[in-house]
Amino acid sequence: MFGALLYLGLRYFLYTNLDEQVLSQGKIAAAALDAGEGTVHLDATTLSDLQNPDSFVRLLNLDGTAIQDPGNSLTQIPADPARIADALENDAPLSRGAIDGRTMIYVTLPIRDATGSVVGVLQTGTSRDDIDELLKLLGIGLVLAAPAMIVAAATGGYLFAGRVLQPVSEITALAASTSESDLHARLNLDLPDDELGRLAQTFDAMLARMEDAFNRQRRFTSDAAHELRTPLSLMRGQVDLALSRQRSSDDYREVLREFDVDLTRLTRLVETLLALTRTEQRGFTLDRSALALDEVVRAVRDQYDDAGGDTGIVLSVNVEPTPASLDQDLVIQVLVNLMDNALLHITAPGTVEIGCRTAPGGVELWVKDSGAGIALEHHARIFDRFYRVDTSRARQSGGSGLGLAIVKAIVDAHDGSIEVISAPGVGSTFLLRFPLPT
Ligand code: ADP
Repeated sequence: MFGALLYLGLRYFLYTNLDEQVLSQGKIAAAALDAGEGTVHLDATTLSDLQNPDSFVRLLNLDGTAIQDPGNSLTQIPADPARIADALENDAPLSRGAIDGRTMIYVTLPIRDATGSVVGVLQTGTSRDDIDELLKLLGIGLVLAAPAMIVAAATGGYLFAGRVLQPVSEITALAASTSESDLHARLNLDLPDDELGRLAQTFDAMLARMEDAFNRQRRFTSDAAHELRTPLSLMRGQVDLALSRQRSSDDYREVLREFDVDLTRLTRLVETLLALTRTEQRGFTLDRSALALDEVVRAVRDQYDDAGGDTGIVLSVNVEPTPASLDQDLVIQVLVNLMDNALLHITAPGTVEIGCRTAPGGVELWVKDSGAGIALEHHARIFDRFYRVDTSRARQSGGSGLGLAIVKAIVDAHDGSIEVISAPGVGSTFLLRFPLPT
Protein backbone atom coordinates (compact mmCIF):
# COMPACT_ATOMS: atom_id res chain seq x y z
CA MET A 1 0.00 0.00 0.00
CA PHE A 2 2.82 2.36 0.84
CA GLY A 3 4.47 1.57 -2.50
CA ALA A 4 1.24 2.08 -4.46
CA LEU A 5 0.53 5.38 -2.70
CA LEU A 6 4.08 6.56 -3.32
CA TYR A 7 3.84 5.65 -7.00
CA LEU A 8 0.45 7.29 -7.60
CA GLY A 9 1.33 10.38 -5.56
CA LEU A 10 4.61 10.90 -7.39
CA ARG A 11 2.96 10.38 -10.78
CA TYR A 12 0.25 12.90 -10.02
CA PHE A 13 2.81 15.44 -8.83
CA LEU A 14 5.17 15.01 -11.82
CA TYR A 15 2.36 15.03 -14.43
CA THR A 16 0.74 18.14 -12.97
CA ASN A 17 4.11 19.83 -12.83
CA LEU A 18 4.81 19.01 -16.46
CA ASP A 19 1.37 20.31 -17.51
CA GLU A 20 2.04 23.61 -15.78
CA GLN A 21 5.51 23.81 -17.25
CA VAL A 22 4.20 23.25 -20.83
CA LEU A 23 1.40 25.76 -20.32
CA SER A 24 3.74 28.47 -19.08
CA GLN A 25 6.28 27.77 -21.80
CA GLY A 26 3.47 28.19 -24.35
CA LYS A 27 2.35 31.46 -22.82
CA ILE A 28 5.91 32.82 -22.84
CA ALA A 29 6.33 31.79 -26.50
CA ALA A 30 2.99 33.38 -27.44
CA ALA A 31 3.93 36.60 -25.70
CA ALA A 32 7.20 36.72 -27.64
CA LEU A 33 5.50 36.29 -31.07
CA ASP A 34 6.84 38.74 -33.60
CA ALA A 35 4.08 40.07 -35.89
CA GLY A 36 6.31 42.03 -38.26
CA GLU A 37 5.19 42.97 -41.81
CA GLY A 38 1.65 41.63 -41.35
CA THR A 39 2.65 38.01 -40.77
CA VAL A 40 3.42 36.36 -37.44
CA HIS A 41 6.53 34.33 -36.89
CA LEU A 42 8.58 32.86 -34.03
CA ASP A 43 11.67 34.71 -32.93
CA ALA A 44 15.12 33.11 -32.78
CA THR A 45 15.26 32.76 -28.97
CA THR A 46 11.97 30.88 -28.82
CA LEU A 47 13.09 28.59 -31.61
CA SER A 48 16.44 27.79 -29.97
CA ASP A 49 14.74 27.20 -26.58
CA LEU A 50 11.87 25.03 -27.72
CA GLN A 51 13.01 23.31 -30.90
CA ASN A 52 15.01 20.24 -29.85
CA PRO A 53 14.62 16.44 -29.81
CA ASP A 54 12.36 16.58 -26.73
CA SER A 55 10.30 19.68 -27.56
CA PHE A 56 8.73 21.42 -30.51
CA VAL A 57 7.09 24.71 -31.38
CA ARG A 58 5.04 25.70 -34.46
CA LEU A 59 2.47 28.17 -35.76
CA LEU A 60 -0.64 26.88 -37.59
CA ASN A 61 -3.62 28.27 -39.38
CA LEU A 62 -7.02 27.40 -37.99
CA ASP A 63 -7.39 24.72 -40.67
CA GLY A 64 -4.21 23.02 -39.48
CA THR A 65 -1.88 24.14 -42.26
CA ALA A 66 1.50 25.51 -41.19
CA ILE A 67 2.28 29.15 -40.87
CA GLN A 68 5.75 28.36 -39.52
CA ASP A 69 6.88 24.83 -38.68
CA PRO A 70 10.60 24.28 -38.04
CA GLY A 71 9.86 20.57 -37.91
CA ASN A 72 11.41 17.56 -36.29
CA SER A 73 10.16 14.03 -35.76
CA LEU A 74 7.86 15.15 -33.02
CA THR A 75 5.96 17.47 -35.34
CA GLN A 76 4.27 14.40 -36.70
CA ILE A 77 1.59 15.07 -34.14
CA PRO A 78 -1.33 15.61 -36.50
CA ALA A 79 -2.38 19.22 -36.87
CA ASP A 80 -6.00 18.37 -36.35
CA PRO A 81 -8.39 21.33 -37.05
CA ALA A 82 -11.07 19.80 -34.82
CA ARG A 83 -8.63 19.63 -31.91
CA ILE A 84 -7.60 23.26 -32.63
CA ALA A 85 -11.23 24.38 -32.62
CA ASP A 86 -11.91 22.43 -29.40
CA ALA A 87 -8.89 23.99 -27.64
CA LEU A 88 -10.00 27.49 -28.59
CA GLU A 89 -13.72 27.12 -27.91
CA ASN A 90 -13.56 25.16 -24.68
CA ASP A 91 -10.48 26.85 -23.28
CA ALA A 92 -8.82 23.43 -22.93
CA PRO A 93 -5.34 24.19 -24.25
CA LEU A 94 -3.51 21.08 -23.02
CA SER A 95 -3.44 17.88 -25.12
CA ARG A 96 -1.65 14.60 -25.09
CA GLY A 97 -0.38 12.91 -28.22
CA ALA A 98 1.58 9.74 -28.91
CA ILE A 99 4.31 9.61 -31.52
CA ASP A 100 6.55 6.59 -32.09
CA GLY A 101 5.49 5.19 -28.74
CA ARG A 102 6.50 8.41 -26.99
CA THR A 103 4.09 10.75 -25.28
CA MET A 104 4.02 14.49 -25.92
CA ILE A 105 2.21 17.01 -23.78
CA TYR A 106 1.46 20.08 -25.88
CA VAL A 107 -0.49 23.30 -25.65
CA THR A 108 -2.58 25.07 -28.28
CA LEU A 109 -2.89 28.86 -27.82
CA PRO A 110 -4.65 31.42 -30.07
CA ILE A 111 -2.79 34.10 -32.07
CA ARG A 112 -4.73 37.34 -32.48
CA ASP A 113 -4.17 40.16 -34.96
CA ALA A 114 -4.35 43.86 -34.19
CA THR A 115 -8.17 43.78 -34.24
CA GLY A 116 -8.26 40.97 -31.73
CA SER A 117 -9.59 38.25 -34.00
CA VAL A 118 -7.94 34.85 -34.01
CA VAL A 119 -5.79 34.33 -37.09
CA GLY A 120 -4.00 31.14 -36.05
CA VAL A 121 -2.62 29.09 -33.18
CA LEU A 122 0.71 28.48 -31.51
CA GLN A 123 1.47 24.91 -30.47
CA THR A 124 4.40 23.91 -28.28
CA GLY A 125 4.97 20.67 -26.41
CA THR A 126 7.46 18.60 -24.44
CA SER A 127 8.06 14.89 -24.25
CA ARG A 128 6.91 13.14 -21.07
CA ASP A 129 9.35 10.29 -21.61
CA ASP A 130 11.78 11.16 -18.82
CA ILE A 131 8.95 11.11 -16.29
CA ASP A 132 7.45 7.90 -17.69
CA GLU A 133 10.87 6.25 -17.60
CA LEU A 134 11.40 7.28 -13.98
CA LEU A 135 7.92 6.04 -13.00
CA LYS A 136 8.52 2.75 -14.81
CA LEU A 137 11.76 2.18 -12.90
CA LEU A 138 10.07 3.08 -9.62
CA GLY A 139 7.18 0.70 -10.39
CA ILE A 140 9.53 -2.18 -11.17
CA GLY A 141 11.54 -1.45 -8.03
CA LEU A 142 8.45 -1.45 -5.87
CA VAL A 143 7.06 -4.65 -7.37
CA LEU A 144 10.39 -6.39 -6.79
CA ALA A 145 10.92 -4.89 -3.31
CA ALA A 146 7.41 -5.55 -1.97
CA PRO A 147 7.73 -9.34 -1.50
CA ALA A 148 11.22 -8.90 -0.04
CA MET A 149 9.90 -6.29 2.40
CA ILE A 150 6.95 -8.48 3.36
CA VAL A 151 9.31 -11.40 4.05
CA ALA A 152 11.70 -9.14 5.98
CA ALA A 153 8.87 -7.59 8.02
CA ALA A 154 7.34 -10.98 8.81
CA THR A 155 10.69 -12.49 9.79
CA GLY A 156 11.67 -9.45 11.84
CA GLY A 157 8.23 -9.34 13.49
CA TYR A 158 8.38 -13.03 14.27
CA LEU A 159 11.86 -12.80 15.81
CA PHE A 160 11.00 -9.64 17.73
CA ALA A 161 7.69 -11.00 19.05
CA GLY A 162 9.47 -14.23 19.99
CA ARG A 163 12.02 -12.31 22.05
CA VAL A 164 9.40 -10.11 23.68
CA LEU A 165 7.17 -13.07 24.51
CA GLN A 166 10.03 -15.23 25.82
CA PRO A 167 9.02 -14.53 29.47
CA VAL A 168 5.48 -15.71 28.69
CA SER A 169 6.89 -19.02 27.41
CA GLU A 170 8.91 -19.35 30.60
CA ILE A 171 5.86 -18.66 32.74
CA THR A 172 3.88 -21.22 30.75
CA ALA A 173 6.64 -23.81 31.12
CA LEU A 174 6.94 -23.21 34.84
CA ALA A 175 3.17 -23.27 35.36
CA ALA A 176 2.97 -26.54 33.41
CA SER A 177 5.78 -28.15 35.41
CA THR A 178 4.71 -26.88 38.84
CA SER A 179 2.95 -29.40 41.00
CA GLU A 180 1.73 -29.43 44.58
CA SER A 181 4.86 -31.25 45.73
CA ASP A 182 7.24 -28.98 43.86
CA LEU A 183 6.36 -25.40 44.62
CA HIS A 184 9.80 -23.96 45.32
CA ALA A 185 10.72 -23.13 41.67
CA ARG A 186 10.65 -19.42 40.76
CA LEU A 187 11.06 -17.54 37.50
CA ASN A 188 13.46 -14.95 38.97
CA LEU A 189 13.42 -13.07 35.65
CA ASP A 190 15.28 -9.79 35.49
CA LEU A 191 12.73 -7.81 33.50
CA PRO A 192 11.90 -4.09 33.34
CA ASP A 193 8.91 -2.94 35.37
CA ASP A 194 6.41 -3.21 32.51
CA GLU A 195 3.37 -5.43 31.98
CA LEU A 196 5.45 -8.58 31.46
CA GLY A 197 7.83 -7.72 34.29
CA ARG A 198 4.94 -7.29 36.69
CA LEU A 199 3.31 -10.49 35.41
CA ALA A 200 6.50 -12.43 36.17
CA GLN A 201 6.82 -10.83 39.62
CA THR A 202 3.16 -11.50 40.41
CA PHE A 203 3.57 -15.08 39.28
CA ASP A 204 6.58 -15.57 41.58
CA ALA A 205 4.71 -13.95 44.45
CA MET A 206 1.73 -16.23 43.83
CA LEU A 207 3.99 -19.30 43.89
CA ALA A 208 5.53 -18.10 47.15
CA ARG A 209 2.08 -17.66 48.72
CA MET A 210 0.97 -21.07 47.49
CA GLU A 211 4.12 -22.71 48.80
CA ASP A 212 3.62 -21.04 52.14
CA ALA A 213 -0.04 -22.10 52.26
CA PHE A 214 0.78 -25.69 51.34
CA ASN A 215 3.56 -25.83 53.92
CA ARG A 216 1.26 -24.50 56.61
CA GLN A 217 -1.40 -26.97 55.55
CA ARG A 218 1.10 -29.83 55.78
CA ARG A 219 2.34 -28.69 59.16
CA PHE A 220 -1.22 -28.35 60.39
CA THR A 221 -2.12 -31.87 59.27
CA SER A 222 0.94 -33.41 60.89
CA ASP A 223 0.48 -31.35 64.09
CA ALA A 224 -3.19 -32.36 64.27
CA ALA A 225 -2.30 -36.01 63.76
CA HIS A 226 0.34 -35.70 66.47
CA GLU A 227 -2.14 -34.11 68.86
CA LEU A 228 -4.69 -36.86 68.29
CA ARG A 229 -2.11 -39.61 68.62
CA THR A 230 -1.15 -38.73 72.21
CA PRO A 231 -4.58 -39.28 73.82
CA LEU A 232 -5.21 -42.24 71.53
CA SER A 233 -2.01 -44.02 72.62
CA LEU A 234 -2.84 -43.25 76.27
CA MET A 235 -6.20 -44.94 75.77
CA ARG A 236 -4.54 -47.85 73.98
CA GLY A 237 -2.26 -48.30 77.02
CA GLN A 238 -5.22 -48.27 79.39
CA VAL A 239 -7.06 -50.90 77.33
CA ASP A 240 -3.97 -53.15 77.17
CA LEU A 241 -3.42 -52.83 80.89
CA ALA A 242 -7.06 -53.52 81.72
CA LEU A 243 -7.16 -56.64 79.54
CA SER A 244 -3.81 -58.01 80.70
CA ARG A 245 -5.55 -59.97 83.53
CA GLN A 246 -8.92 -60.64 85.11
CA ARG A 247 -10.19 -57.59 87.09
CA SER A 248 -13.06 -56.63 89.36
CA SER A 249 -15.95 -54.54 88.02
CA ASP A 250 -14.71 -51.61 90.17
CA ASP A 251 -11.37 -51.74 88.36
CA TYR A 252 -13.12 -51.74 84.98
CA ARG A 253 -15.25 -48.79 86.09
CA GLU A 254 -12.09 -46.92 87.06
CA VAL A 255 -10.55 -47.60 83.64
CA LEU A 256 -13.70 -46.36 81.90
CA ARG A 257 -13.66 -43.20 84.01
CA GLU A 258 -10.09 -42.46 82.87
CA PHE A 259 -11.26 -43.23 79.38
CA ASP A 260 -13.97 -40.65 79.73
CA VAL A 261 -11.44 -37.93 80.61
CA ASP A 262 -9.37 -38.71 77.53
CA LEU A 263 -12.45 -38.88 75.32
CA THR A 264 -13.56 -35.48 76.57
CA ARG A 265 -10.13 -34.08 75.74
CA LEU A 266 -10.23 -35.64 72.29
CA THR A 267 -13.73 -34.36 71.59
CA ARG A 268 -12.76 -30.85 72.68
CA LEU A 269 -9.70 -30.92 70.46
CA VAL A 270 -11.69 -32.02 67.43
CA GLU A 271 -14.33 -29.38 68.11
CA THR A 272 -11.67 -26.69 68.39
CA LEU A 273 -10.09 -27.81 65.14
CA LEU A 274 -13.47 -27.62 63.46
CA ALA A 275 -14.08 -24.14 64.87
CA LEU A 276 -10.72 -22.98 63.55
CA THR A 277 -11.34 -24.37 60.08
CA ARG A 278 -14.80 -22.84 60.04
CA THR A 279 -13.44 -19.44 61.11
CA GLU A 280 -10.93 -19.45 58.31
CA GLN A 281 -13.56 -20.43 55.79
CA ARG A 282 -15.91 -17.75 57.10
CA GLY A 283 -13.28 -15.12 56.28
CA PHE A 284 -15.29 -13.86 53.36
CA THR A 285 -18.78 -14.12 54.78
CA LEU A 286 -18.53 -12.25 58.05
CA ASP A 287 -21.90 -11.67 59.66
CA ARG A 288 -21.19 -8.06 60.63
CA SER A 289 -23.78 -6.10 62.54
CA ALA A 290 -23.85 -2.74 64.27
CA LEU A 291 -23.18 -3.40 67.94
CA ALA A 292 -22.23 -1.59 71.13
CA LEU A 293 -18.89 -3.23 71.81
CA ASP A 294 -18.88 -1.99 75.43
CA GLU A 295 -22.08 -3.94 76.11
CA VAL A 296 -20.61 -7.11 74.55
CA VAL A 297 -17.53 -6.71 76.77
CA ARG A 298 -19.68 -6.27 79.89
CA ALA A 299 -21.75 -9.33 79.00
CA VAL A 300 -18.62 -11.49 78.59
CA ARG A 301 -17.22 -10.19 81.86
CA ASP A 302 -20.48 -11.17 83.59
CA GLN A 303 -20.03 -14.76 82.42
CA TYR A 304 -16.88 -14.91 84.55
CA ASP A 305 -18.48 -13.83 87.82
CA ASP A 306 -17.55 -17.14 89.41
CA ALA A 307 -13.92 -16.80 88.40
CA GLY A 308 -13.52 -13.63 90.48
CA GLY A 309 -15.41 -13.58 93.74
CA ASP A 310 -13.45 -14.71 96.74
CA THR A 311 -10.63 -16.40 94.73
CA GLY A 312 -8.42 -13.35 95.12
CA ILE A 313 -8.62 -12.42 91.46
CA VAL A 314 -10.24 -9.11 90.60
CA LEU A 315 -12.04 -8.87 87.26
CA SER A 316 -12.49 -5.30 86.09
CA VAL A 317 -14.14 -3.69 83.09
CA ASN A 318 -12.77 -0.54 81.47
CA VAL A 319 -15.12 0.61 78.70
CA GLU A 320 -16.48 3.72 77.06
CA PRO A 321 -19.37 3.75 74.56
CA THR A 322 -17.89 2.00 71.54
CA PRO A 323 -20.12 1.54 68.51
CA ALA A 324 -18.65 -1.00 66.08
CA SER A 325 -19.57 -3.15 63.11
CA LEU A 326 -18.25 -6.66 63.81
CA ASP A 327 -19.39 -10.27 63.80
CA GLN A 328 -20.78 -10.51 67.34
CA ASP A 329 -20.45 -14.30 67.78
CA LEU A 330 -16.83 -14.20 66.65
CA VAL A 331 -15.99 -11.24 68.92
CA ILE A 332 -17.44 -13.14 71.88
CA GLN A 333 -15.31 -16.16 70.91
CA VAL A 334 -12.21 -13.92 70.86
CA LEU A 335 -12.97 -12.47 74.30
CA VAL A 336 -13.69 -15.90 75.80
CA ASN A 337 -10.40 -17.34 74.49
CA LEU A 338 -8.42 -14.39 75.82
CA MET A 339 -10.20 -14.44 79.21
CA ASP A 340 -9.66 -18.22 79.54
CA ASN A 341 -5.95 -17.78 78.85
CA ALA A 342 -5.66 -14.88 81.31
CA LEU A 343 -7.37 -16.82 84.12
CA LEU A 344 -5.31 -19.92 83.34
CA HIS A 345 -2.00 -18.14 83.72
CA ILE A 346 -2.80 -16.05 86.77
CA THR A 347 -2.30 -16.83 90.42
CA ALA A 348 -4.09 -15.06 93.24
CA PRO A 349 -3.93 -12.31 94.15
CA GLY A 350 -4.15 -10.72 90.70
CA THR A 351 -6.24 -8.62 88.32
CA VAL A 352 -7.70 -9.17 84.89
CA GLU A 353 -8.94 -6.14 82.98
CA ILE A 354 -11.13 -6.34 79.91
CA GLY A 355 -11.90 -3.17 77.99
CA CYS A 356 -12.65 -1.37 74.76
CA ARG A 357 -12.65 2.13 73.30
CA THR A 358 -13.03 4.05 70.09
CA ALA A 359 -9.65 4.78 68.49
CA PRO A 360 -8.65 6.75 65.37
CA GLY A 361 -9.83 4.72 62.33
CA GLY A 362 -11.63 2.00 64.30
CA VAL A 363 -12.01 0.40 67.70
CA GLU A 364 -9.63 -1.16 70.22
CA LEU A 365 -10.27 -4.13 72.47
CA TRP A 366 -7.99 -5.57 75.13
CA VAL A 367 -7.59 -8.18 77.83
CA LYS A 368 -4.88 -7.40 80.37
CA ASP A 369 -3.76 -9.68 83.17
CA SER A 370 -1.19 -9.58 85.96
CA GLY A 371 -0.34 -13.23 85.43
CA ALA A 372 2.76 -15.21 84.51
CA GLY A 373 3.58 -13.25 81.33
CA ILE A 374 5.21 -14.54 78.16
CA ALA A 375 8.94 -14.32 77.36
CA LEU A 376 9.82 -12.23 74.31
CA GLU A 377 11.13 -15.17 72.25
CA HIS A 378 7.62 -16.72 72.24
CA HIS A 379 5.73 -13.59 71.17
CA ALA A 380 6.02 -14.24 67.45
CA ARG A 381 4.89 -17.85 67.70
CA ILE A 382 2.09 -17.99 70.26
CA PHE A 383 -0.46 -17.35 67.48
CA ASP A 384 0.73 -20.42 65.54
CA ARG A 385 -1.51 -23.46 65.69
CA PHE A 386 -0.57 -25.95 68.41
CA TYR A 387 2.15 -23.69 69.78
CA ARG A 388 2.46 -23.82 73.57
CA VAL A 389 5.01 -22.05 75.71
CA ASP A 390 5.30 -24.77 78.32
CA THR A 391 4.26 -27.97 76.59
CA SER A 392 4.04 -30.27 79.58
CA ARG A 393 2.15 -27.82 81.79
CA ALA A 394 -0.23 -26.78 79.04
CA ARG A 395 -1.19 -30.38 78.30
CA GLN A 396 -2.06 -30.95 81.91
CA SER A 397 -4.29 -27.88 81.86
CA GLY A 398 -5.98 -29.15 78.73
CA GLY A 399 -4.67 -26.40 76.44
CA SER A 400 -4.45 -27.47 72.82
CA GLY A 401 -2.40 -24.53 71.57
CA LEU A 402 -5.25 -23.46 69.29
CA GLY A 403 -6.91 -20.71 71.35
CA LEU A 404 -4.76 -17.83 70.10
CA ALA A 405 -4.69 -19.27 66.56
CA ILE A 406 -8.49 -18.95 66.54
CA VAL A 407 -8.28 -15.40 67.92
CA LYS A 408 -5.80 -14.47 65.17
CA ALA A 409 -7.97 -16.04 62.43
CA ILE A 410 -11.00 -14.06 63.62
CA VAL A 411 -9.03 -10.80 63.83
CA ASP A 412 -7.64 -11.40 60.31
CA ALA A 413 -11.12 -12.05 58.95
CA HIS A 414 -12.06 -8.56 60.22
CA ASP A 415 -8.89 -7.06 58.65
CA GLY A 416 -7.79 -6.23 62.19
CA SER A 417 -4.50 -6.63 64.03
CA ILE A 418 -3.43 -8.15 67.32
CA GLU A 419 -0.49 -7.18 69.48
CA VAL A 420 0.87 -8.82 72.59
CA ILE A 421 2.63 -6.77 75.25
CA SER A 422 4.02 -9.11 77.86
CA ALA A 423 6.98 -9.97 80.04
CA PRO A 424 7.49 -12.81 82.52
CA GLY A 425 6.34 -11.87 86.03
CA VAL A 426 4.68 -8.64 84.86
CA GLY A 427 1.60 -9.94 83.06
CA SER A 428 0.23 -9.85 79.54
CA THR A 429 -1.88 -7.49 77.50
CA PHE A 430 -3.52 -8.64 74.27
CA LEU A 431 -4.48 -5.53 72.31
CA LEU A 432 -6.76 -5.91 69.28
CA ARG A 433 -7.51 -3.22 66.71
CA PHE A 434 -10.44 -3.45 64.32
CA PRO A 435 -10.57 -0.88 61.51
CA LEU A 436 -13.88 0.60 60.36
CA PRO A 437 -15.26 -1.70 57.64
CA THR A 438 -14.71 -0.34 54.13
P1 ADP B 1 -3.85 -22.92 74.71
O1 ADP B 1 -5.18 -23.25 74.09
O2 ADP B 1 -3.01 -24.14 74.90
O3 ADP B 1 -3.92 -22.02 75.85
P2 ADP B 1 -3.17 -20.66 73.14
O4 ADP B 1 -3.01 -20.62 71.66
O5 ADP B 1 -4.36 -20.02 73.72
O6 ADP B 1 -3.05 -22.17 73.55
O7 ADP B 1 -1.89 -20.03 73.77
C1 ADP B 1 -0.59 -20.40 73.37
C2 ADP B 1 0.40 -20.24 74.47
O8 ADP B 1 0.51 -18.87 74.83
C3 ADP B 1 -0.02 -20.95 75.72
O9 ADP B 1 0.62 -22.20 75.79
C4 ADP B 1 0.47 -20.07 76.86
O10 ADP B 1 1.71 -20.52 77.32
C5 ADP B 1 0.67 -18.73 76.24
N1 ADP B 1 -0.32 -17.75 76.75
C6 ADP B 1 -1.46 -17.41 76.15
N2 ADP B 1 -2.12 -16.48 76.86
C7 ADP B 1 -1.36 -16.20 77.94
C8 ADP B 1 -1.49 -15.33 79.08
N3 ADP B 1 -2.54 -14.49 79.21
N4 ADP B 1 -0.50 -15.33 80.00
C9 ADP B 1 0.57 -16.13 79.84
N5 ADP B 1 0.77 -16.98 78.80
C10 ADP B 1 -0.18 -17.03 77.86
